[in-house]
Formats: sequence, structure tokens, C-alpha cells
Amino acid sequence: MRVASACAVFVSITVGVAWAQTRPAPTPAPGAAPTLAAAPPQATAPAATCAANPNALGVTRVVEIDTTGGPGFGWEHFKMHDFLRAGEVVLTFDDGPWQGNTPAVLKALADHCVRATFFPIGKHATYYPEILKQVAAAGHTIGSHTWSHVDLSKKQYQEVEKAKEEIEKGISAIRLALSAPAAPFFRFPSLKHPPEMVTYLGQRNIAIFSTDMDSFDFTMRKPEQVIKSVMAKLQKHGKGIVLMHDFQHATAEALPELLNQLKAGGYKIVHMRAKDPLKTIAQYDEIVAKEIKLPTISDRPTSSVVRTISE
Ligand SMILES: [Zn+2]
Repeated sequence: MRVASACAVFVSITVGVAWAQTRPAPTPAPGAAPTLAAAPPQATAPAATCAANPNALGVTRVVEIDTTGGPGFGWEHFKMHDFLRAGEVVLTFDDGPWQGNTPAVLKALADHCVRATFFPIGKHATYYPEILKQVAAAGHTIGSHTWSHVDLSKKQYQEVEKAKEEIEKGISAIRLALSAPAAPFFRFPSLKHPPEMVTYLGQRNIAIFSTDMDSFDFTMRKPEQVIKSVMAKLQKHGKGIVLMHDFQHATAEALPELLNQLKAGGYKIVHMRAKDPLKTIAQYDEIVAKEIKLPTISDRPTSSVVRTISE
């Protein structure tokens, strides 16, 4: 149930650039709006790797989202802000950062000059801050997805303070890992939206992202299954915010071919950015900083701790 009624969402087109259009663009999906005239591309300059890819998918449109009042997105739960045109796709990746898989996802996106939105788990951000920094450095948008990926609709989180702590610690952990604030974009674990927390996020001016299409990639072992799932759902709906997981190996493996197929299918990528960064709450910054500190662990380099004495 959606409570906040006065949420002010503002979706503005800031850039309309198709990258790497070195060959004719495919026929747009039926009903697709024409590509806007190119605007200065400084905010979305193509990465070096995709310049060499004549079939790069690129980003067609960048939207800025004003998260005042905590607007909800994704027609699985929220039907109020349908900002995508026919054929447009927003890619989102949850549950990272994770070694191996997240860097593979980043490489596939870079090879296609595509930007996406990531919803990392706070704890994972503290395990792999360097990987999360790579996500930020590549120009992707980074929201949050709680501290430890608990289902906030469960009984033990009915106490508002407990649920709030999960959300806020997740935000603080990302701030700590990045040394920069997250975007005020949030996705509930398992897409479970307790009404009290929806209200809370509205008060915090954090947008809630459900999904238009859940790939269910976490149930899949083979990359072909992930590709088939996403393409079939997109064919059915014609556009949408797609939920995948950079945490999942099959997804990381699927992504290069999935991006090829999106390009061949004439889909256009939309990149979401936040109008304002998200301020953390000091009390939770402190809790996270304390929790990740392991005072008994030495920080001596491995080479001084372990050395080969026989081989
Ligand atoms: Zn998740």
C-alpha cells in the first residue's frame, strides 16, 4: 500500500545522446519516440572500450529524478510514474558488490557504453569497497538495498526502529565504502514493502524502486536462461525497469550477449540519476564504522605474514 500522496517527482531529460552510432540505428520498437537531438555529452562521455565497439548499445536518454517525498517506481508495486517510452529500458543490478561477478558486469556495461543503477547490500560494500568504487567511477548510479538483506516485512522488523536501522546502516555503509554519498534510491530486499517503511523513506526523500520486470536470475544457473528471461519479458511489455543481480554469476556471464541482443532488438537504454545526493545520519555512520572495525586483526601486509620457505 502506498501512503505518501504528495510526492513530488520530477523526471527531466537532461541528455539525449546515442553513443557509438557508427552504423545505422536499428528500427525503434513500435511506438518509440524519436531520439532527441544530441545535447552536450560531457556527463556521459563514452568509455575507451566501447569506442572500439561498433555495435555498442550506449545510453539514449539520461533522466534526473527528484526524490522529494519518496516517489515509487516499478509497476510491480507502484504505478504512478511511468516515465519510460516504448522500447526504453533501465538496467538495475542488486546485491553486490561481489568479487568476480560485479567486475564482469562492469566490463560488459563499459564495452557497450551503458550505464545502470546498482542497489548494493551494505555489508557487501564493506567487504569490497574497492569494487563499489569502480562502480561509481564508471558513472553508474548507486542506491542502497539495506545493511544485511533482511526481509523487512518479517515479524522481527515490525519494530520501526529495527527496520529503520537496517535501511540506514545500508546507506551509511555505502557512504563509507565510496567516501561519497549514495543516491537517494532504495530497493527493498525481496521487494517486500512494509507500509511503515514506505512512509519512512518518503520522509527521508528517498525514492523506492520496485521493478517492471524481475528477471528471476537468482534462480538460474545458465547465462542463456537469464538472457531468455529478460528478452521474453521485454518483448511482452515493450519497455521497463529490469531487475537483475550483479551478485549472480550467470548474470555476469549473460550480460555481454544480453546487451548485444538488446541492441539488435532496437531497445534504448535510459540512465537514471538523482537530483540530489543522500545525506547519511551520523548515528548510523558511527554504528557501521564500529561494526566493521576488527580490532584484533593485524593490518600487516601478507608478504610480511606469509612467506615461502620451501617450494
Ligand atoms: Zn536483493
